[in-house]
Amino acid sequence: MNIIIPIKQVPETGNVKMDEETGTMVRSGVESIVNPLDLYAIELGIELKEKYGGRITTITMGPPSAQKALREALAMGCDEGVLLSGKEFAGSDTWATSYALAEAIKKLGKYDLILAGERATDGDTGQVGPGIASFLDIPLLTYISKINHIKEDSLTVERLVEEGYEVLKAPLPALLTVVKEISFPRLPTLRGKQKAKKAELIKLSAEDIELEQGKLGLQGSPTRVVKISHPRVTRNGEYLKVIDEDSLQKAVMRFKDFLKEKEII
Ligand SMILES: Cc1cc2nc3c(=O)[nH]c(=O)nc-3n(C[C@H](O)[C@H](O)[C@H](O)COP(=O)(O)OP(=O)(O)OC[C@H]3O[C@@H](n4cnc5c(N)ncnc54)[C@H](O)[C@@H]3O)c2cc1C
Repeated sequence: MNIIIPIKQVPETGNVKMDEETGTMVRSGVESIVNPLDLYAIELGIELKEKYGGRITTITMGPPSAQKALREALAMGCDEGVLLSGKEFAGSDTWATSYALAEAIKKLGKYDLILAGERATDGDTGQVGPGIASFLDIPLLTYISKINHIKEDSLTVERLVEEGYEVLKAPLPALLTVVKEISFPRLPTLRGKQKAKKAELIKLSAEDIELEQGKLGLQGSPTRVVKISHPRVTRNGEYLKVIDEDSLQKAVMRFKDFLKEKEII
């Protein structure tokens, strides 16, 4: 089974700053990590490889420093890392990012499954996985929490929904976006880290994969960031500290009064 895992490098902090002029995130000077939700896709890929054999190729579109993310995925157990990089990609929105990743995936050859994270913790749109599936014209299954069966040409999965889960069947190749419930990411071993450090990465440019210039970067991005504003926190929570029986009683009374004030009880 050949598996492709698109991963994104994201800032380690949740406190992402925005460039108000360009409408893009300020990434310089911020420590980067593999998007935490992509680790679940990597773990699932490794478990499937252990069960069915095959290879895992992980791919990222980002600056040269994003190779750190690929090496982390290799240290966990992926076989190959592909870095899609170049100044032509700067300013890409989710549409242009999905287009570039899909075209790069086409160049990588035959695959059975693409596993993406549910969403990236910085951009947070959850659009790139579905975007790649759409450009590749393959079935898309989102919010997958369990793989029930995989056969040569199809798979059955569970999809997390508010009321429980749905059971879906799709032909392969397909793209899955996965949620945390799917796996528990392993830590890389020392041997894995050493291997990943020396690994040769595949580096691709827009020219290598013959991308259409007008569909790249800021110029090829249909999204227009019209305005950026920071939400103001206007609610003031009340903090009740419970350390003994007496403070517990007081907290319960205060909570009861609060519900009465709001005419809830
Ligand atoms: C006008 C505009 C300009 C922008 N300019 C830039 C810029 O210059 N530089 C920049 O870094 N970002 C830029 N962005 C943000 C960038 O478009 C998004 O971060 C990116 O498309 C991914 O979207 P997301 O973060 O919402 O990921 P999501 O869609 O939430 O990610 C879902 C999953 O898709 C996969 N994925 C997402 N992104 C990548 C990736 N890059 N490589 C591999 N897999 C991926 C992962 O599996 C991830 O879990 C810009 C956005 C806009 C609107």
